[in-house]
Formats: sequence, C-alpha cells, structure tokens
Amino acid sequence: MASRAEKAAEDELLRVFRQHPQGITDDALEAALPQLGMQERVDAVNSLLAANKLQVLEARRLVKSVKNVNNPSRKVYMLAELEPSRELTGGAWYTENQFDSEFINVLREACFSYIVRQGDASLGTIASFIRAKGFSKVELRIEDIQTIVMTLVYDGRVDEVEPEGDDDNEDHYRPAVLCVPDSTPLTDVPCGVCPVVGECQDGGVISPQTCVYYDKWLEF
Ligand code: SF4
Repeated sequence: MASRAEKAAEDELLRVFRQHPQGITDDALEAALPQLGMQERVDAVNSLLAANKLQVLEARRLVKSVKNVNNPSRKVYMLAELEPSRELTGGAWYTENQFDSEFINVLREACFSYIVRQGDASLGTIASFIRAKGFSKVELRIEDIQTIVMTLVYDGRVDEVEPEGDDDNEDHYRPAVLCVPDSTPLTDVPCGVCPVVGECQDGGVISPQTCVYYDKWLEF
C-alpha cells in the first residue's frame, strides 16, 4: 500500500499531468515535485500508469509499455521516443519478449554457409556479411555474432583459429577439420540419458543386470 507521502506525490503528479494534457518534460515534473529524486519520479509515474490512471499518455503515444524479459508479468513504461535497454528486452535474441530460437538458427546457418564459402573468415567479415543481409531488426553487436559463431564451434562444425600475422588481431573461423557426429554408439551410453537412473541399483527391480536399455545399446 502506498504511504501517505507516495499518495501525495501521486496526487501532485496527476494534477500536473492534467494541467499539461499534451505531455510534460521531466524538468517540469522535477520543478513540480522537487522532493522526489529521478528514480522516485519514474517509479511514481510507472505506478500511475500501471493503475491505468494515465491512459491519456499512452493514447497520445507519449509513453509506451515494455515488458521485462526477466519478469514478464511486470510492465515498465517509458517515454515513447526512448529505446528500451537490452537488459529489459533481452536484446537481439528475443522477439516480442519470446526467446527466438528460429531466428538464432537462421543466423547460425547463415554464418556457417559464409564460413564454408570463404574457407576462412574473420569475425569482422562474418559480422559485416550478417549485417548486410539485414536479418535482424536490432543492431547486432560483434559480441552477438561471436556468440552465434561460438555455438558452431561448440557443435564441432567450425574451428576457431589464431589470427595470422602481426597486423591481424581478429579471431578467424574455418570449417571444422574433424566434424563431431551428432551421436555415436559410444557417446549414447544409456546411463547418461536414462529416465530411471535414480531407481537403478545392483540387485534392485531396475538394475544393470536386468537393464533393457543396455541390451539394446549392445546390439549395435
Ligand atoms: S543400467 Fe540401465 S536402468 Fe540402470 S541407469 Fe543405466 S541405463 Fe538406466
């Protein structure tokens, strides 16, 4: 519940907003409520918006609501002309607050094809290629591209190689010399993915001696 001081601040804010239906600058708000710091003003305005007491600002597109990917049930309001931070939106990997695995796969395959075509590509050239293709609505940082390329390295599809020459300080990537297969009989040891591993014990109802998964695996 709002304290008496918070209630008084909200009432004063409402009064100021009603006096300026076309919108108001933060400087004017500060002048009207000098006792509030910037964060307190932001919190007070957000609280009024969340309580639907300032719909007029949204209707006139002076403010917009943004969802926080870390706390989707909490709406945050901000001035319409401002861009929400990556911390709030999740950055390039989120579309409308949902983790966009399809988009990430498109980027992964585009990076992989480019590296295969070039035979050897620096991080900078991969980033230039991806940006030129316009895959993303938000600016992809070099760290974003590196994150994508590193998933290819961890999957064994691409090798990371040292820069060549004194003038070159960029990481380079090449198609993997030794591809890692998706799975092999040796990497698919049944115990590693067993749904009943917690109940398996020597001499038990479920046990290595009676294991059906091992029988099947040993058939390879
Ligand atoms: S021995 Fe068989 S049942 Fe036991 S954990 Fe391994 S796979 Fe699962």
